[in-house]
Amino acid sequence: MEKIYALIVAAGRGRRFSADIPKQYCSLGGYAVLFHTISAFLNHRAIVGVRVVIHPDDHALYEQAVGSLNVMSPVHGGSTRQESVLRGLQSLEDLNPDGVLIHDAARPFVSEKIISDVIFEVKNARGALPALAVVDTLKRIKDSLCIETVDRSSLWRAQTPQGFPFPEILKCHNELRDQDMTDDAALFEACALPVVQVQGSEENFKITTQEDYQKAQKKMRLNYETRIGSGFDVHRFEKGDHVTLCGVKINHNKGLKGHSDADVAMHALTDALLGSISAGDIGTHFPPSDMRWKGVSSDVFLRKAIELIKEKSGIIVNVDLTIMCEAPKIGPHRVEMVTYLASILGVSTDRISIKATTTEKLGFTGRGEGMAAQAVCSVKLPE
Ligand code: MG
Repeated sequence: MEKIYALIVAAGRGRRFSADIPKQYCSLGGYAVLFHTISAFLNHRAIVGVRVVIHPDDHALYEQAVGSLNVMSPVHGGSTRQESVLRGLQSLEDLNPDGVLIHDAARPFVSEKIISDVIFEVKNARGALPALAVVDTLKRIKDSLCIETVDRSSLWRAQTPQGFPFPEILKCHNELRDQDMTDDAALFEACALPVVQVQGSEENFKITTQEDYQKAQKKMRLNYETRIGSGFDVHRFEKGDHVTLCGVKINHNKGLKGHSDADVAMHALTDALLGSISAGDIGTHFPPSDMRWKGVSSDVFLRKAIELIKEKSGIIVNVDLTIMCEAPKIGPHRVEMVTYLASILGVSTDRISIKATTTEKLGFTGRGEGMAAQAVCSVKLPE
């Protein structure tokens, strides 16, 4: 079984939450709750694609939340959770998925282990859900009066992601439309198909109330440390008709000399990102002696640095670049550069700063012998 997709249900209005915007779009450490949820699945190597089911009114919130994350285009949900899941499943049908993991947008702290454990069961052609044993004593209460103590020994609290072989769960949803069940395992059970339990986690809680949201914010602050990285690079001018800066080709009466495309700005940025996780520099990963990197686009270096940060479940907070030269002029190309970097970094454009300065005709940049670039970045890493 190869093709496992994640379907994230984010169409709810969150009536128990009481805020101006639905909880999945509220900020958690500078990023929307939904951003963290999507990232958990995008960062899992067994997931081939992530689709989010959204409310038709939430397009602007959604676009802002996902930034440049490499997520599939969203689909609209229905009036109930069950209907929303059905629409999401139908939208995936043409892709012939082998399995699907269905997850609540408001559970941003789902671990790699839970996702892996659910996928393991799905690959064995079974439904699976993470669940936790009930530890509190359960009471049946009516009008503030305890009526009885409920035996909790066989009771479990269901979480998501719930995973299923795709054709089966789609069939269940099609057959049991309009039932308004609160989770997908219930439909699988109703069709007499097996659903097994994997170990859930208290960390994988669902943000339902304001109290949960405060707990999530606190957890976010505790769990992440802020790293800073810095990078600096210089390239000499040689004969040529353009330079490449932040991936943008700019006409000039000289070119930059280098083993790759000599994108001095992208090199400084890449070194800053590598520095933030103490992962060496470009030369460590791409030795200049290796002919494979001759003339290569510097995107390759930048993408490698981002991949290493993602492997550590890091989040890029912001980057700030300064390009030093007398010419060419950077200003007219700034927006294009920022947009291009945002698409690679997977962050919104307001987290990327590109500045330029001359050095008042002093030094090698002042004499027009070459260009320099300096970058600083901030990255959040789980402790
Ligand atoms: Mg360089």
